[in-house]
Amino acid sequence: MIISVASGKGGTGKTTVATNMALALGEKVELLDCDVEEPNAHLFLKPQITRTEKVETPIPLIDLEKCTACRKCSDICRFNAIAVVGKKVLVFPELCHSCGGCMVVCPEKAIVETGRELGTISYGHRNGIRFINGRLRVGEAMSPPLIRKVRAAADPERVTIIDAPPGTSCPVIAAMNGADFILMVTEPTPFGLHDLRLAVGAVRVLGIPCGLVVNRSDIGDQKVFAYAESEGLPILMTIPFDRRIAEIYSRGKAIVEEMPEWKERFVDLYRKIEALATSRSGASQCVK
Ligand code: SF4
Ligand code: SF4
Repeated sequence: MIISVASGKGGTGKTTVATNMALALGEKVELLDCDVEEPNAHLFLKPQITRTEKVETPIPLIDLEKCTACRKCSDICRFNAIAVVGKKVLVFPELCHSCGGCMVVCPEKAIVETGRELGTISYGHRNGIRFINGRLRVGEAMSPPLIRKVRAAADPERVTIIDAPPGTSCPVIAAMNGADFILMVTEPTPFGLHDLRLAVGAVRVLGIPCGLVVNRSDIGDQKVFAYAESEGLPILMTIPFDRRIAEIYSRGKAIVEEMPEWKERFVDLYRKIEALATSRSGASQCVK
């Protein structure tokens, strides 16, 4: 079971939901922090990190001795990451998507692979919960390859909870694609509704069952609830605005550990997800 916890908008409580569900379920789960531009799940889970490794992506390196400046490499590159200027071939590593096309078409075998550092992946654990996070190198613009590497490290024997990046662009698609269920965390405000609509649109393209958690559910207005009803999106949990919860969050603590009555609510959230992910009605959610 792979559950991707996403939100159209940042700051809705996505990481709070992902970490608390992981802590409530205990040792059968793993938490993958795929919000690689700003990973913060470790602040709440507090895992013991046992290993950190660098992650690279392949980019072309030109052997100018062999190159005949035929331009076949620059013609095939859809990302303008390689250009032939006179007799020279210039590579722009930041634009390269590592597709390998230029290497395949080079008639002189003048292109070999070298690596560009994307960031790091750290591995750890807490109370039997497996934890992995990706951290994008400062200045690196392309996060999807690193997100895919974090996901590739998942253990299929465990329930995988993914803390996805916010938004609706390529990074969040990389964190949601192939999941069994997408849990969208939103808040009942005009911004929350606006970004929820965009996120639901993206999830529907993927055709994955989904449901909502409404955080700070007693502030704002009722439009998110009306939208969920009109779209047939199940609301699986509401978290009221509570000063104690805000204080726990601000101290970097977990709700289920500071307010034990919440543990069963997060376990119940998982049970609902499990039922929807495997039922026919659940499979029809977000597939309009
Ligand atoms: S395809 Fe190969 S030979 Fe042609 S310009 Fe590119 S690197 Fe040089
Ligand atoms: S590997 Fe792909 S993206 Fe990168 S330079 Fe070659 S053709 Fe362009």
